[in-house]
Amino acid sequence: MFNAIRISQPPKSLAAKQKYDGDDVYSALCKIFFDKCYICETKEPHDINVEHFHPHKGNENKKFEWNNLYLACSRCNNIKLAEFDDIIDCCDTNFDVFRAIRHVPPITPYAKSVQLLSTSADPKVELSQKLLDRVYNSDHTVNKKVSGAFLRRKIFDQYNLLLDQINSYYSPVATDLEKELSLARIQKLIHRSAPYSAFIRWCILDDIELGELMSDYMD
Ligand SMILES: [Zn+2]
Repeated sequence: MFNAIRISQPPKSLAAKQKYDGDDVYSALCKIFFDKCYICETKEPHDINVEHFHPHKGNENKKFEWNNLYLACSRCNNIKLAEFDDIIDCCDTNFDVFRAIRHVPPITPYAKSVQLLSTSADPKVELSQKLLDRVYNSDHTVNKKVSGAFLRRKIFDQYNLLLDQINSYYSPVATDLEKELSLARIQKLIHRSAPYSAFIRWCILDDIELGELMSDYMD
């Protein structure tokens, strides 16, 4: 998961309380969430929807409340629906959602699972960990093309891009210029806008040298 910064002014169409997923709402959310599902961090998924963080259950206020609208892919939306309505809030700028759950990337493209570990006993963190575990590790799917296995492969691709940069940074023949270039590329990979940034950030956080060099970019 990644922290998103919500614009405070609600999109205009919400005021009429007729449509919660108008074009202005959708494009504002795409900007805030960098075109990513806020749960699985897939960039530009096939199927992305405006989601209610807390189910509205017919409550008008909750249905059209700007702060209750998020951007999620259908699969995550579907998995979350049933039992995960009190998870950590990625739009809460006082809460570091990325550090709340340790994300360990797969080490092969067809790994059976990825590890997700809560870093505190906070019930919201525990519940979010359970949700993410189901998202990345189960084959529950509404769309056959998108499954846990598909996501793990995509995470691996991203992890592989990181490994290329780590290798070139630590190469014994790397020039200063090459090292700088690798650092700039790592910065892109750990940015909140990048796919599966939580997995990639944890790799950097675990590296003594890169963790320190990149600490200013772990916003
Ligand atoms: Zn998703």
